[in-house]
Amino acid sequence: MKPPPMLGEAPIAATIISSPTQISNPMKSMDSIVSLCKRRGFLFQSSEIYGGVQGLWDYGPLGVELKRNLKDAWWRDMIAGHNELVSPAGAPSSFEMVGLDCTILMHPQVWKNSGHYDLFHDFMVDCRESKKRYRHDQVRGRFVEYRETKIFVTTLAEIEHEADEVRRRGMKYFKLRPKNADDLTVGDESITLDKLDSHDEVLGPDAKSLGTLTEPREFNLMFKTTLGALGGEEDTTFLRPETAQGIFVNFKNVLDSSRVKLPFGIGQVGKSFRNEITPRNFTFRSREFEQMEIEFFCHPSQSQAWYGYWRDRRLAWYKSLGLSDEALIMREHHTEELAHYSVGTADIEYAFPFLPEGEYGELEGIAHRGDFDLRSHMEGKLDPSTSPMTVELNENGKPKYRGSGKDLSYRDEESNEKFVPHVIEPSAGADRGVLAFLCEAFTEDEAPDEKGKMQTRTVMKLHPRLAPIKAAVFPLVKKDGMPEVAQEIYGSLKEHFNVFYDAKGAVGRRYRRQDEAGTPYCITVDGESLTDKTVTIRDRDTLEQTRVKIDEIVEVVRERVNE
Ligand code: ATP
Repeated sequence: MKPPPMLGEAPIAATIISSPTQISNPMKSMDSIVSLCKRRGFLFQSSEIYGGVQGLWDYGPLGVELKRNLKDAWWRDMIAGHNELVSPAGAPSSFEMVGLDCTILMHPQVWKNSGHYDLFHDFMVDCRESKKRYRHDQVRGRFVEYRETKIFVTTLAEIEHEADEVRRRGMKYFKLRPKNADDLTVGDESITLDKLDSHDEVLGPDAKSLGTLTEPREFNLMFKTTLGALGGEEDTTFLRPETAQGIFVNFKNVLDSSRVKLPFGIGQVGKSFRNEITPRNFTFRSREFEQMEIEFFCHPSQSQAWYGYWRDRRLAWYKSLGLSDEALIMREHHTEELAHYSVGTADIEYAFPFLPEGEYGELEGIAHRGDFDLRSHMEGKLDPSTSPMTVELNENGKPKYRGSGKDLSYRDEESNEKFVPHVIEPSAGADRGVLAFLCEAFTEDEAPDEKGKMQTRTVMKLHPRLAPIKAAVFPLVKKDGMPEVAQEIYGSLKEHFNVFYDAKGAVGRRYRRQDEAGTPYCITVDGESLTDKTVTIRDRDTLEQTRVKIDEIVEVVRERVNE
């Protein structure tokens, strides 16, 4: 007779729950997340065999699926799956949504009228000693005091190592030995360079002497390139720093070619490029990244209501895919931060583990942009400091940048009113989204192994819609006809989902590998499968195992993945 079903993580005959135990107060360290991402093929540094390039990242076999799933979820939930016949909860009315896919290279005039050519800059400081360049608001440090001397020591180290690194550099600067460590006082507060009034007493991140950092200077973040072989100044253009402008310049094309009526939104997903001065924090600040942007066009009198709607809707979207309430905030910009034409801008921010406690990083911005963009592309770049806005003029009193001269206004068929629509822009980053979901998913808990002994396990609790692999299929052993049954199940699932087949090693080890990959379900073919045509399906998070009929497995996975 066969022995009775084993405890713990072996496939079982009936439904059991052997719940994992959450490790109390788990520390999500960025180092462990980064190392899991590399080890399991979520993310690699670009051109790594040549030493890598800062701020450029490649998505590995698991990462590409995760990122695609996130973009697909956004496209489905915002654009393709939107029902324009009903008014969704919280919306002022029903509305339409369509998509676009525009080029990365555009007419150079686009960037002049959008404001990026003049204004798209960051402040940076140069180090006279190391010849390196840093973004002013990203260099962190602390005040360090030895005897009567107080200096400000900076570092680019990740936040978890920042205080130690400041201490180490402070000791080195004052030439202190370890036994004199107590003579050095390191301030409790970690602050960024832009909060200081002067750089005189600052030890730069790669400097040996004080006061080597210059005053902050502006630096344009757009990558310049040349169209065509001749390469004159007029052929210079830029890799787009945002996808939004492709939408604005196609506004009329969309109106003329589809029968959309206000209010409606146009969405686009695609690559954007910014020559970030200090790319850092893994993929958070990259030089090449993807955005998921909506430009929502509405009547000016309704724009405030739509702004409120999109803020709430976008926040709810992140939560629906698993970001926790406690880790998310909506940060409204203060009125003094807003352009006068805007009634509001809010950022959805996430408590990334590389930030100090209580700090959040932007995932998405939702901006009320008034009619600035459409009018600028129509009339020439507007001066945002004028009210009502007028075209910015050069020293000869002519428009500084010429507009397209095309009419980008809208005529309401019913009222016959003609106006330039106002725009609400929810602008999300796909890479920052992926990073937030990876950080949120990373969990260490304790779960029983095959012998019922509790072991620490690393599990990526990704929402099933986002999980790179939806289910893994295992034969319990590589004999007795189990592989054949498992391969058949694998084949039928693979027609619908990304699934994984694994027959190697102990089943407990196979479960663990899938836990790390974030696979929500593991399907195991065991001895019973051969007689009663059932398999076990194991839930990654609860460890619950249920027997289901082989005939129903595609439906069961479909139901669970779409839940
Ligand atoms: P930050 O202040 O962090 O530089 P931003 O306010 O310039 O961001 P936006 O211009 O509003 O960003 O871009 C919209 C979204 O695009 C951001 O919320 C973010 O998700 C994403 N994004 C912007 N810059 C980067 C970058 N360098 N790397 C990855 N994603 C980015």
